[in-house]
Amino acid sequence: MPHYDVIVAGGSVSGLLAAREAAAAGLSVAVLEEDSEIGTPVHCGGLVSIAGIRNMGLVPDASAVENTKIARAKILSPSNGFEISAENQKVMVLDRRAFDKQIAFQAQKLGTEIKVKFAMRSFSKDGSGYSVKTSEGDLVCDYFVDARGVASIIARNREGVLQSAQYEVYAPWIERDTIEVAFDSQRYPGFFAWIIPTAQGSGKVGVAGRGINAASALQSYIDGKGKHSVVRKVYAPIWVNGPTENFVSDKTIIVGDAAGQSKPTTAGGIYTCGMGGVLAGRAVAEAAMTNDDSLLTGYEKNWRSMFGAEFEKMLLARKLLERLDNKAIDELFSALSPEKLEEASTSGDFDFHSAALAKILGAKSAARMAKALLGNEIRRLIDSS
Ligand SMILES: Cc1cc2nc3c(=O)[nH]c(=O)nc-3n(C[C@H](O)[C@H](O)[C@H](O)COP(=O)(O)OP(=O)(O)OC[C@H]3O[C@@H](n4cnc5c(N)ncnc54)[C@H](O)[C@@H]3O)c2cc1C
Repeated sequence: MPHYDVIVAGGSVSGLLAAREAAAAGLSVAVLEEDSEIGTPVHCGGLVSIAGIRNMGLVPDASAVENTKIARAKILSPSNGFEISAENQKVMVLDRRAFDKQIAFQAQKLGTEIKVKFAMRSFSKDGSGYSVKTSEGDLVCDYFVDARGVASIIARNREGVLQSAQYEVYAPWIERDTIEVAFDSQRYPGFFAWIIPTAQGSGKVGVAGRGINAASALQSYIDGKGKHSVVRKVYAPIWVNGPTENFVSDKTIIVGDAAGQSKPTTAGGIYTCGMGGVLAGRAVAEAAMTNDDSLLTGYEKNWRSMFGAEFEKMLLARKLLERLDNKAIDELFSALSPEKLEEASTSGDFDFHSAALAKILGAKSAARMAKALLGNEIRRLIDSS
């Protein structure tokens, strides 16, 4: 039976980065991807911070970059709205199809075997390692990395899952430099609708919400905007409940969306899941090279020290959003002064945006409202500004 030091189930950003790091240390690594092509089907808006991409040791190829001209964000409530500058956030829009292939290429050059149309069916303890059953036969490995995305976490817990729909749209109302986020507690409970532009007149338009029919919610959002053509449709669950309890058990390491590592506020996970992969791959390498599996827990410690406190605050912001009805959202928006918005947009960090949220909620009447809904708990968010 073919043996690998490391088998990674899931060939997307977190799994491929884990494979890259483990292979860089000289381990034999296989990535199993059930789809027939790395990066496809795309189920991602591709919005990411440039700093995050760099931290993962990546410089996206020109073919992977769709838009670097994002300058502002329009944030809408049912009958109100404001605009903030996004210049300081330094974000770009990626084509995940090309981006994931670029990481696969990096991992492959370091020795990783990438196997597409190769589904992991189950894995079980076999001596000191694992026997992995796949659609193409059995394999064995010393370390098993679960990078199967939300599909993996859903099997364990459905509570933090929202349904999403995202269409690629050609429409004259999509402005190349403007992201749009629209809140409406009836249409998108617990989440929002979004527009991520890829060029003037084209972009990714999506919605998510608790218990909604995402397809019809998205269709009415797009219809309400005006003339358009939809050229691609994708439906996918997103996870918003934050990290799962343990990332490591024995020699099984869970990374990325499978470990709940996407942001509870926006479900953005390219960076936070990708870093999960990087840190996990490094920890596996250290454990394997020194024969000391206790080093695997270093991955979890490192991820939590990077993102744990921020995710706690994002979970509070999520709790607040889940309790706001449309009247409260409108009132909250009216309570925001241009100065507070300016402060929030200039101090904001795309990956650690709880500080900007705290600034916004720190406005007197907004704070009063947030306190009425969440009690003193909200202080943990507001006081961090
Ligand atoms: C509609 C939508 C829009 C999004 N927009 C953004 C955004 O703009 N910015 C951002 O940062 N994040 C965004 N995200 C989140 C982001 O896509 C994910 O957080 C990120 O891709 C997670 O990476 P991952 O490697 O952990 O998992 P995934 O990308 O989900 O990859 C899991 C992989 O495992 C494979 N797999 C599953 N089961 C098996 C199996 N049994 N055997 C083999 N392979 C298997 C899957 O085919 C898949 O390739 C969005 C998500 C959605 C759904």
